[in-house]
Amino acid sequence: MGRLAAGVAVAFLAVVIVIAAGTAEVIGAVFGGGGGGAGCAATVTTPGASPAGLTAEQAANASVIVAVGERMRVPVRGWVIAVATALQESSLVNLGNLGAGNDHDSLGLFQQRPSQGWGTPAQIMSPDYAAGKFYEHLLAVPGWQSLPLTVAAQRVQRSAYPDAYAKHEARASVIVAAFTGGTLPACDGAALSPAGWTRPVTGDEVGSGFRTADRPGHDGVDLIVGRGTVIRAASSGVVVRVRCNVAGNSWDAPFHAAMPCDTDGWPGRGGCGWYVEVRHAGDIVSRYCHMVRQPLVKVGQSVTGGQPIGYVGTSGNSSGPHLHYEIHTGYPATEGNAINPVPFMISKGVHL
Ligand SMILES: [Zn+2]
Repeated sequence: MGRLAAGVAVAFLAVVIVIAAGTAEVIGAVFGGGGGGAGCAATVTTPGASPAGLTAEQAANASVIVAVGERMRVPVRGWVIAVATALQESSLVNLGNLGAGNDHDSLGLFQQRPSQGWGTPAQIMSPDYAAGKFYEHLLAVPGWQSLPLTVAAQRVQRSAYPDAYAKHEARASVIVAAFTGGTLPACDGAALSPAGWTRPVTGDEVGSGFRTADRPGHDGVDLIVGRGTVIRAASSGVVVRVRCNVAGNSWDAPFHAAMPCDTDGWPGRGGCGWYVEVRHAGDIVSRYCHMVRQPLVKVGQSVTGGQPIGYVGTSGNSSGPHLHYEIHTGYPATEGNAINPVPFMISKGVHL
């Protein structure tokens, strides 16, 4: 670090990033409280002036980090973590090799090391690539959204100075807010009912119902929401299953492995795709199917009501992005103990 950014003229990108409704749900999930529904929609623009006292070069690098986060459908919390990490590692300056003063073979905005598998020097010196690798690793950290920033950043960076990230959190929030209309998006993701339950997704319409005449074997309800929408634990409990299930086969979730559930399914494909089960008080089990990628939680993990557990997708037997949601009145969950989630949730003070 320490290289001056002065005098480097980087044209400020007049990028306008329109966040689709589905992504807005993701954002809303991260910054809960207040508002709701329509308030979750956001249009992200590059600010006219450099935010938070950044130079043009730093601001241009921040804009790349934000744009890559949006493109990868990373929740906005992740953008803040990425910007804070880059502030610590490089002061948001795309550092080349500093010679004798260099820290090992660290390069670029996030000081990633070719020798540690982050990419070639040329790749790492691309801010777009570097940000993408950062998010890739961040998304693989179980439950990263509920971790303190410094812990989440440290899991990615494995820095010798993990506590150094925290001091950048406030400034990183200001920087990201400059790219999201001046404030961080705030909307209501997860108000718990007095019974301690919440809708697993917000903004949904109920599609196929429970065991209808034309789908008697449909043991849950389909909640139609956009790809990437955060899925929340409907109530507190313990994760009892995280699995990929397609075409009659099931795999427990390993990390960092390609799985057949990572690609979109289709009607007739068979299976729940990426799914999670949570065991609640009274041996109620909730099940969440067709996630877009490996869920955020692990078997044995305790979750709170409203805690993000994964993202909506269309893996397995599915014709388009939605959450297939089941409630079971016993553990383990079986076909025999599945009940209609709609009246069950009403009994818990929640309308799907
Ligand atoms: Zn379904």
